[in-house]
Amino acid sequence: MDAALLAAKYLGRVYIININPGLKGDAMILDTIGTNGRITVFNNAATAGITGSSAVAGIRLRRNGLEKELAVQSAFIEIGYVPSVGFDRLTKKNRWGEIVIHDDKERFMSNLTSVPDIFAAGDVADVPEKQVIVATSEDIKTILSAFRYLGSQSEEY
Ligand SMILES: Cc1cc2nc3c(=O)[nH]c(=O)nc-3n(C[C@H](O)[C@H](O)[C@H](O)COP(=O)(O)OP(=O)(O)OC[C@H]3O[C@@H](n4cnc5c(N)ncnc54)[C@H](O)[C@@H]3O)c2cc1C
Repeated sequence: MDAALLAAKYLGRVYIININPGLKGDAMILDTIGTNGRITVFNNAATAGITGSSAVAGIRLRRNGLEKELAVQSAFIEIGYVPSVGFDRLTKKNRWGEIVIHDDKERFMSNLTSVPDIFAAGDVADVPEKQVIVATSEDIKTILSAFRYLGSQSEEY
């Protein structure tokens, strides 16, 4: 949304194509977007394609089962989330491809996956909040758990 406001300062018209029923985020920014005459929001809308041969000429917009083309000169793909788990064929994933994690409070361990030796943290795991501070905290929990796990495997611990 910040990017749309910035773009609206320099461009004649900005379209936000949003797959959800409404925009989510900071209320002040939402208000500013709503009152900005240069920004049009399409909710419940999917981007079906970007058209053009050597440069962007349009965006195909799918909404309520209908498709129409918006003539545009540029497209900013601002958000999208596909967990990068192609390298991991071992752990269990949820329907979004996120690694399923769980805690074991009996053993004081968190961020365990379906495979005993693999721990997961951050956006790639099935934690709903995708924020830097959450990922960082999950990292610390994971390191402590992995340390505890390795210790439990060692005679010297
Ligand atoms: C547009 C946008 C805006 C955002 N704004 C905010 C914000 O304002 N505030 C906020 O708190 N959060 C924001 N976030 C979310 C935040 O960026 C993430 O929650 C956070 O970066 C997650 O950290 P992470 O370490 O789990 O993953 P990442 O930061 O994505 O780090 C994963 C790393 O792993 C690397 N990698 C991937 N595959 C492999 C592989 N096979 N081998 C080795 N390395 C690999 C990647 O290159 C990357 O460096 C935003 C995200 C986006 C996309």
